[in-house]
Amino acid sequence: MSEAEIIDGKAFAARLRERVTAAVAALKADHNLTPGLTVVLVGEDPASQVYVRNKGKQTEETGMVSDTIRLDAATPTQDLLDLIDTLNDDDAVHGILVQLPLPDQIDEAKVIAAIDPDKDVDGFHVVNVGRLWTGAVAPVPCTPYGCLKMLKETLGDLKGKRALVLGRSNIVGKPMAALLLGEHCTVTIAHSRTEDLGERCREADILIAAVGVPQMVPGDWIKPGATVIDVGINRIEPTEPGGKARLVGDVDFESAVKVAGAITPVPGGVGPMTIATLLRNTLVAARAQQGLEAPDL
Ligand code: NDP
Repeated sequence: MSEAEIIDGKAFAARLRERVTAAVAALKADHNLTPGLTVVLVGEDPASQVYVRNKGKQTEETGMVSDTIRLDAATPTQDLLDLIDTLNDDDAVHGILVQLPLPDQIDEAKVIAAIDPDKDVDGFHVVNVGRLWTGAVAPVPCTPYGCLKMLKETLGDLKGKRALVLGRSNIVGKPMAALLLGEHCTVTIAHSRTEDLGERCREADILIAAVGVPQMVPGDWIKPGATVIDVGINRIEPTEPGGKARLVGDVDFESAVKVAGAITPVPGGVGPMTIATLLRNTLVAARAQQGLEAPDL
């Protein structure tokens, strides 16, 4: 049996970054405008530190202005809200991203609600959630948008396809379902209470796994020839002293690759597209704030 096409997220991300870089240069030349992204990091979470560093570096590489504000882990909610007010009023800041998760004492919902929806490059503000579900122009959450981009470039028109989204979180599952619906897919959202999960998955032409359970989806849950997007990032600790931790997805890649038509690997699949989409969202936000339409990137 032939193996699935591997959807190379790194290559997709590199191409998207190139297009963003060119669009940033054009915006500077034509409108004397340089998009600016400010990332706020509270505390010392090691994974967040890595993400924030990568975001800053890649933002600068596209020619945009990057700023990272680091706050103490004990920062109270009100201090963060005051900072967001200042950033909302700063015309040089077109995108604001508060790195999640936040320390326990901070009211995450209040913080997200305080960000100006037009600067909300993560697309988590309820106004943007409403815009997304009603088909209006909105900043779209980065991970699902990156998945959609790879799906469209791999499959072309998605109209009429059966899509199953495994996971219903606000940051991945739900916005992913909204985007697929917008492409005229027939969408099922599955979760921890879904019955006959394997059966439901086997009906899907497009299977998106976003559960956070290592290698939960085996090959025999996949319809032969289906396109599989594995959002999961799960760290498996070494079993032997001195061994290396490794990352696996929510799909059992080894068995899935023998059944699927195309599949994203972990790492190197969805992950790289998430930051590239953030750059795209920042550019789009800067343009929108000047009354300019979103470029087709
Ligand atoms: P959440 O924990 O917020 O949501 C997980 C979802 O999976 C929930 O809806 C839950 O159902 C469902 N679920 C959990 N266990 C099962 C099960 N056994 N059977 C069926 N459904 C189940 O996770 P996120 O959406 O934030 O993230 C999902 C994965 O994606 C994680 O591995 C995360 O690390 C990764 N991720 C990767 C990103 C990237 O850039 N590549 C970005 C963001 C996330 P219920 O609602 O019923 O509890």
